Amino acid sequence: MRDNFPAPVSDRKHDAYFVFSILRALDRVDDLKSEVPLLGRPRALDYAAAEQAELAEEGRSVEEVAHLLVGQLEGMPIWGHPRTQINVVPPPSIPSVIGSLLPAIYNPNLVSDDTSYGLMLTEASATAMVSGLVGYDPARAAGVFTFGGTGTVLYGAKLGIEKAFPDAMDNGVPAGGVILASAQSHYCRLNVAGWLGLGEKNVVEIPTHPQNDIRLDRLEAAAREALDQGRRIVALVATMGTTDAFGVDDLDAIADLRDRLVEDYRLDYTPHVHADAVIGWAWSVFNDYDFEENPLGFRPRTVRALAAARRRISKLHRADSIGIDFHKTGFTPYVSSLFLARDRADMQLLVRGREQMPYLFQSGERHPGVFTLETSRGGSGVLAAYANLQLFGRVGLRVLLGHLVEMAEALREHLEGHDSTTVLNDDGVGTVTVFRVYPDGVDTWTVKDRERTDPAAREELHRHNDYNRRLFRYLYDRAMRGEGVHISMTDCYRETDYGEPMVGLKSFILSPFIDERDVEQLVRDILDARQAIRDAS
Ligand SMILES: *Cc1c(COP(=O)(O)O)cnc(C)c1O
Repeated sequence: MRDNFPAPVSDRKHDAYFVFSILRALDRVDDLKSEVPLLGRPRALDYAAAEQAELAEEGRSVEEVAHLLVGQLEGMPIWGHPRTQINVVPPPSIPSVIGSLLPAIYNPNLVSDDTSYGLMLTEASATAMVSGLVGYDPARAAGVFTFGGTGTVLYGAKLGIEKAFPDAMDNGVPAGGVILASAQSHYCRLNVAGWLGLGEKNVVEIPTHPQNDIRLDRLEAAAREALDQGRRIVALVATMGTTDAFGVDDLDAIADLRDRLVEDYRLDYTPHVHADAVIGWAWSVFNDYDFEENPLGFRPRTVRALAAARRRISKLHRADSIGIDFHKTGFTPYVSSLFLARDRADMQLLVRGREQMPYLFQSGERHPGVFTLETSRGGSGVLAAYANLQLFGRVGLRVLLGHLVEMAEALREHLEGHDSTTVLNDDGVGTVTVFRVYPDGVDTWTVKDRERTDPAAREELHRHNDYNRRLFRYLYDRAMRGEGVHISMTDCYRETDYGEPMVGLKSFILSPFIDERDVEQLVRDILDARQAIRDAS
């Protein structure tokens, strides 16, 4: 049995066996690769067979198990492939993989520095670096890595609850709390409200502009209505980069609105402002980029997009807390999410009595476990994030994001140039493009606005929704055969003004390996798919 574990003391022979086992597994993964953007071949997922699994009497060898594990990856998209453009899933960098692996071997637990030692310093350093990046004072800010972007929103809302309802931690959450967030914000707002005991129905969804940013007039009206009814605002959530379209809220104005509300209503608490920047945070590297000089030589369209994003992303410091996903636009493996609070004193609101955790914290000086939701927190997310911050620096992230935006801009330019395609997020400034394709004879100059605003276009909208679903099906089947570009579809890019869902095709570009040929390939695939549908009908 001992051979199955890394040797606790230096043992060159056994260390070689350990490392070689990993290399052998990676070699087998390599056998699954081809020109196709998938590992192996996709197979039908046979849950009935999977559910027959029984624990065997006898175990297997390291080699056999490694072989089995590699097989479990079959059918996975290769996120780093330039023809994989499905969603906001990045390919992890090499140092971030090493950063994930080392804690898997040595098992630090960030509940306390008793059990994580230097890794607790890593969390402090990563927190300080990102604080500086987004414009927080690193000497005042606090950060904890948590279980996903959803976790960061949960922490933000929990702070908001403790501010709006002091001692809710002890007494429970009274009725009457509301969270205000845009209709395009991530659906985890509902998990958070449900799980924290606020109730899903107490999330007020505020309409957005066509650019997918929150409508401030409607936000203000909803906030005042809630306060007029005697309710308490737990959190105003600003989405800094929506998932489907990279819409960015005007956080500056939201923070100003909060300040006005505190004054106008003489509130005895300050409603919490949380920035859900799990996607948009990385654009902070452009806060101090000289767009006039443009030393990295981005094209004019790219410069415009990056500068437009900066206008709002550079206001991140106005939020009381910020959610940051390295496993989205920070190129690490899952899960690597950082919850940042501008004022570390806020974390005191979450502290439970130490006397309730007698077996922990007998020594050491830093014990995030007294205020984190989690007890055990692994080190992989922290070390992977730290790895990429060191690897990229500001310039590296600028190069990476700038290139991805440049390729997304090239795609938007192509799609705008064809008379059968139209870009839905046409003011989009990120790396995601949502678009619609139309059959022959549709005037794409006018159809988009008509579908969006005119109830008389309902029939037409549905017909074109179906058309785009069919086209997606065709592209998807091709992608599964390993041909063409693998994109995705959203069933409701946004609701039309008359309340119908608008289907959109979505390309999310995150592979550093993408270049213009891949963009042109996607455009050709789309035109081929149109042709195939025309031929079939
Ligand atoms: C992905 C996403 C989330 C949820 O993050 P997870 O890491 O998947 O839990 C929250 N907000 C936004 C805007 C997102 O895009």
